[in-house]
Amino acid sequence: QATVTDTYDVVVVGSGAGAMSAAIFAADQGMSVLIVEKGAKYGGTSALSGGGIWVPNNHYFKAKKGNDSYEQALTYVKASTEGKIDEARLRAYLDNAPKMMQYLEENTQLHYTVAERYPDYYPHLPGALPGGRTLDPELFDTSKLGAEADNLMPASPTTLLMGKIAWTARHAHKAMARERGWRVLLVWLMLRYKMDFKQRRKTKRDRRAALGNALVASLRASLMDRNVPLWLNTDFRELVETDGRISGLIVKRDGQEQLIKVRQGVILGSGGFEQNQALRDKYLPQPTKVEWSATPPGQNTGAALEAGQALGAATDLLDWGWWAPTISVPKEEKARGVFAERAFPGAIVVNGEGKRFVNEAAPYLEFVDAMYKDNEVTGGKTIPAWVIFDGHFRFNYAMGPLMPSQIMPDSRLPKAWHKTVYWKADTLEALAGEIGIDAAGLTDTVKKMNGYAASGNDEDFQRGGNVFDRYYGDSNVKPNPCLAPVKKGPFYAMRMDAGDIGTKGGLLTNENGCVVREDGSEIKGLYAIGNCSASVMGTSYPGAGSTLGPAMTFGYIAVNDLVRQR
Ligand code: FAD
Repeated sequence: QATVTDTYDVVVVGSGAGAMSAAIFAADQGMSVLIVEKGAKYGGTSALSGGGIWVPNNHYFKAKKGNDSYEQALTYVKASTEGKIDEARLRAYLDNAPKMMQYLEENTQLHYTVAERYPDYYPHLPGALPGGRTLDPELFDTSKLGAEADNLMPASPTTLLMGKIAWTARHAHKAMARERGWRVLLVWLMLRYKMDFKQRRKTKRDRRAALGNALVASLRASLMDRNVPLWLNTDFRELVETDGRISGLIVKRDGQEQLIKVRQGVILGSGGFEQNQALRDKYLPQPTKVEWSATPPGQNTGAALEAGQALGAATDLLDWGWWAPTISVPKEEKARGVFAERAFPGAIVVNGEGKRFVNEAAPYLEFVDAMYKDNEVTGGKTIPAWVIFDGHFRFNYAMGPLMPSQIMPDSRLPKAWHKTVYWKADTLEALAGEIGIDAAGLTDTVKKMNGYAASGNDEDFQRGGNVFDRYYGDSNVKPNPCLAPVKKGPFYAMRMDAGDIGTKGGLLTNENGCVVREDGSEIKGLYAIGNCSASVMGTSYPGAGSTLGPAMTFGYIAVNDLVRQR
């Protein structure tokens, strides 16, 4: 028997960006609100993300005289989602995302800048823009959080310069694309970090939070401004329904089951099921492993999905992830997503036959989808896939945890990484032997690619043929910034798994963010946002920020629905 503790107007489950934003909106509408978080830290995957949010027609872009419109964005999301998503939900997103963002910018400590040159992921579709829809968080000084800074989920090393220094996505892009002034920028960022003597005496952790850490830290500070309680180590277990309406939820806290009652509703924001191997085996395409996920271990195990299903909620997209290829590194508790490096000139990705199967620069969701499709064709030889590059690439560019060798030579790499993270040989044939792939296939592929690098035209997959591919290309490489020959030994290989940054399927919701049953009727008082809900983006990933944008927007929509019902 659970003890009854408190009663709130609204309880929000989880402390990702969507959940925290929802709690802010609810508090500002005069509701009493509580956040319950299972982990010992707050922020979930949102805190280790890039923090980018995709908001078509946003006010930041408008202020810079950018050209976007509701109609153009609708054309684009309808084309991306291929008519599979209810138009009312798409419209709800496009109507509310810019309002949500403007509200947060004006009323909280969260501040963003528009990434004017970050293209939509499908530039070939009608309505796509070459930039202006993805927003990039400003850095946030975590000393404003006081002791709560220690409870913030640490950023992923993937998102930090040298695994520790905070930078914005605009800075990261400048360095990766090696645009004019990139070296000076790096030196300046390193000095700023080193010269923060007070912080350096205490910890390696940068005082400035960046990207997803900045997003979560500024939301947490804004919740503190509003005195909204956030209970850590509190595991949501079950929903309670009374007379056809959600009346409370059962959580486990301090080893004790407790019933928390709600007057208005519960907003589930507890992430997907990517950390639950049994649910991965049940729903996702095979092979699939928890260890390939770039998300925090043990946190998002599908609690919301199962609690909703127990009440008869409909579900959708359970066989989809927010796919991203990942690399596992010894002693790191989660895999690292490989988002940009695949587009750098001179890296090619092959299957066990030594053949390419996809445009390496494709968006990460499409990349892993192609891994699964090719794995069917090759009878299991594409998972894992292998990224291959040469000594020239190694000197100049990063790949996963390997910084360019001009900064981090092989002699300074941890010994344990050799033959776990990277393989190395003097010839391509020997490299193929080391990793157990077809040597003739690989040398053939490299020969072909070297020809494409010279002509600038990838005749197989048109890599570098659009503005999105070229965003992460090297602007100094001609004629195609995404293509360079692979010819200077030693040669390197790294293993890429069919990973994810969260699952995409979950409880089906309507245009009010309310969870619905198979017949479309609402489960009154129950809302789902973020990855515990079936994505409004269907099986697509229209632009950087397509997971956090909807999570935060449907938080806004859910609270507005609660206000209407009050
Ligand atoms: P989360 O942010 O994971 O939050 C869920 C929270 O719920 C967690 O804290 C979890 O502990 C808690 N929880 C789970 N179960 C329970 C329970 N039973 N009781 C209580 N609490 C519970 N997306 C973008 O849109 N833009 C980006 O730039 C971006 N970059 C990324 C970069 C990386 C390296 C990674 C890994 C991901 C990135 N993503 C990005 C994806 C994005 O981070 C996730 O899709 C998003 O954070 C999911 O949000 P969420 O609120 O659903 O889940």
